[in-house]
Amino acid sequence: MSPNDPGLRSFIPVAPDSDFPIQNLPYGIFSTEANPQRRAGVAIGDFILDLSVMEEAGLVRPAGEGQTVFGESGLNAFMALGPDVWRATRARISELLRSDAPTLRDNEALRRVALAPRAGATMHMPFAVLAFTDFFSSKQHASNAGKIIRGEASQLAPNWLTMPIGYNSRASTVVVSGTPVRRPLGQRKPRNLDQPVFGPSANLDCELEMGVVLGGRSAMGEMITEAEAEKMIFGFTLLNDWSARDIQAWEYAPLGPFLAKAFATTISPWIVTAEALEPFRVEGPAQDPAPFPYLRQGARRNYDISLEILLKTPAMSEYTRVSRTNFKYMYWSSVQQLMHHGCTGCAMNVGDLLGSGTVSGNERSELGSFLEMSWGGSTPLELPNGEKRAFLEDGDSLEFRGYAQGDGYRVGFGEAEGAIVRAHELPV
Ligand code: CA
Repeated sequence: MSPNDPGLRSFIPVAPDSDFPIQNLPYGIFSTEANPQRRAGVAIGDFILDLSVMEEAGLVRPAGEGQTVFGESGLNAFMALGPDVWRATRARISELLRSDAPTLRDNEALRRVALAPRAGATMHMPFAVLAFTDFFSSKQHASNAGKIIRGEASQLAPNWLTMPIGYNSRASTVVVSGTPVRRPLGQRKPRNLDQPVFGPSANLDCELEMGVVLGGRSAMGEMITEAEAEKMIFGFTLLNDWSARDIQAWEYAPLGPFLAKAFATTISPWIVTAEALEPFRVEGPAQDPAPFPYLRQGARRNYDISLEILLKTPAMSEYTRVSRTNFKYMYWSSVQQLMHHGCTGCAMNVGDLLGSGTVSGNERSELGSFLEMSWGGSTPLELPNGEKRAFLEDGDSLEFRGYAQGDGYRVGFGEAEGAIVRAHELPV
């Protein structure tokens, strides 16, 4: 039976609106108070199945006899084993968690050590990020950003429709959900001044994106085919590409984004496998002009994944939703981004992270950044408690959520959360 079968049930109870039914089985790195060692686990309902325990017990053996990968503090070694091992391992974990499988269900001693409540666990970075590339592949976002920055008459740059535009960002500051984000200091040039100033960013923003985690590699000098790209993608996370718009506006000419985006990028702790998202593939938007042959991809390029931005200001007791959009709107797909990344012979590696680009839809309620929601700061958002926000203030907390809705279950991502901490004092 396929581990994606909607009829599968686990002996562990899972609420219909849980992100983590047996059809999902996302991988993460966790620790507990009882065992502070970082190790790999799979989320199931309100629990984490400790894969290091299952591996030690010989019940899951991705690396073969005598070899272990799940006791490590990142998933890189597991990911490097390749798609055949990913599939076999997920099928085996699914088999062990099924309601009709007695091995774990009826072994109380094993259950006690192998299942940790998620509520008491600390989540860590799920993998060591080797390199981070960020794309710009929502036509709506690219078009909105152009109009806000360069005026209503602005058109998409002439290259935008012929290739997925991206830039090499920083792996060193990719952090896991829950890590505070300090407001960056930097150079900006306010409109009313002739000279730039150095100080805290006044236009701190988020970008709602999906992260693609690579579990495969390509050799320097070699292109990446569609089939190879599909096999290299291990899974997906939520991704917040925190952005300082005022620093960005002053620094971006002529080489593009640099420090305005290098101070923090937050990802959700669970990597949802590409295999678990397979049932949620959908057609992408029509591409005109037709992509070059090296960028062509077959049907169902995109994924139907509902995405939300929630905000909590210091005056609020609960999060309020400020945006709801969908990953299916993206013009360029993750596979096309990867094929493009390889077209000049750039080598890709296990542990590389690709950001999809901000996901915006056509409606005012479907925008993936405050830059767009407040239209460059000119129309601040009105929050339910009467507060207004053009950009993020100190003490604000943002949470991204996302899920694909199945028939009676959802394949979800958990959260990517970060709270804004006030900037450092200026050096004298
Ligand atoms: Ca971005």
